[in-house]
Amino acid sequence: MAKRDYYEILDVSKDASQDEIKKAYRKQALKYHPDKNPGDAKAEENFKEAAEAYEVLRDPEKRSKYDRFGHSAFDGAGGFGGGGMTMDDIFSQFGDIFSGFGGFGGFGGFGGGQQTRRGVTKGSNLRVTVKLTLAEIASGVEKKIKVKKYVACEACGGNGAKNGTATSTCSTCHGTGHVTQVTNTFLGQMQTQSTCPTCRGEGKMISEKCEVCYGEGILKKDDVISINIPAGVSEGMQLKMSGRGNAARRGGINGDLIVMIKETEHDELFRDGNDVVYNLYLSMPEAILGDTVEIPTIESRVKIKIDPGTQPGKILRLRGKGIPDVNGYGKGDLLVNINVWVPKSISNEEKKMVEKMNESENFKPQAMKADKNIFNRMKNFFE
Ligand SMILES: [Zn+2]
Ligand SMILES: [Zn+2]
Repeated sequence: MAKRDYYEILDVSKDASQDEIKKAYRKQALKYHPDKNPGDAKAEENFKEAAEAYEVLRDPEKRSKYDRFGHSAFDGAGGFGGGGMTMDDIFSQFGDIFSGFGGFGGFGGFGGGQQTRRGVTKGSNLRVTVKLTLAEIASGVEKKIKVKKYVACEACGGNGAKNGTATSTCSTCHGTGHVTQVTNTFLGQMQTQSTCPTCRGEGKMISEKCEVCYGEGILKKDDVISINIPAGVSEGMQLKMSGRGNAARRGGINGDLIVMIKETEHDELFRDGNDVVYNLYLSMPEAILGDTVEIPTIESRVKIKIDPGTQPGKILRLRGKGIPDVNGYGKGDLLVNINVWVPKSISNEEKKMVEKMNESENFKPQAMKADKNIFNRMKNFFE
């Protein structure tokens, strides 16, 4: 399969700055993140593809080679030949790209894991959905949420052993937590390691179980967690708070808290990235004569001036009245999309008025140059 152009993958121009490249990669990586697209092979492929593009374009030396020779610059040894990067490579090399939400660890590895790479038991991830209004998204907010989660048993301190009773080394695995099996295959002998079935990987056994938690070391309890949501988050975004999820059996490390963001719709405004859009309808006389009209903003309402002779399709931009960028790259605007209200039915008297208007040459549309901008703007709203 022919490889796609790295600039195209990240959707940046050939002369994009390092900052733009980083930002573009982050956008792609968030979009195709495995936590967000569980079991989606296509998303995983896109996720890897973006990482590969970023790996080259973020490095000035590799980038200039790529600019001169294209993909063939990296053929053969040391390049990406055929293999590309594994998911583990991506997280260990670029994991920091997901951080940067104040107080959050960003995205991490894979959710729901029971066993970390080091063999320590990890609690399962706790997933919560947080519904936010546009105003809360614009300002950032602290949310308190009721959850049922596993916490360490107080009676045994979380190790599952009855008060005073000791734990001993597991006799099956001698404390290592895993067992090695040797099987014969046509390729020769294969060694496979698996979790010890006796101690479930913990390496120790309890002689007498705690009576409160039945030896599990954890109990399910109601808890209230408070979550600081940074300004600028958006629908579908997942924030990870390391170690705030479920406690692990018998004194392992806590799972993570995954916060899924949902936006509640605003009655009058809608969001377009970091901008918010308001569809303003003017009456025909208002558009002709000009007026001062009141419009909603995220926080309150403001008055804006409409010039005489304002055409429908014109967009007024109120700078900085949008949503702050989640990474701190400035603030969006409030776009006021101007429409003109045409009455659906009119009285006979009104009809005479309009017919009178129609007699005036000045009310006929003027020959306008084809304006591509109007069309492009419309297209953006439908994309
Ligand atoms: Zn206990
Ligand atoms: Zn064992």
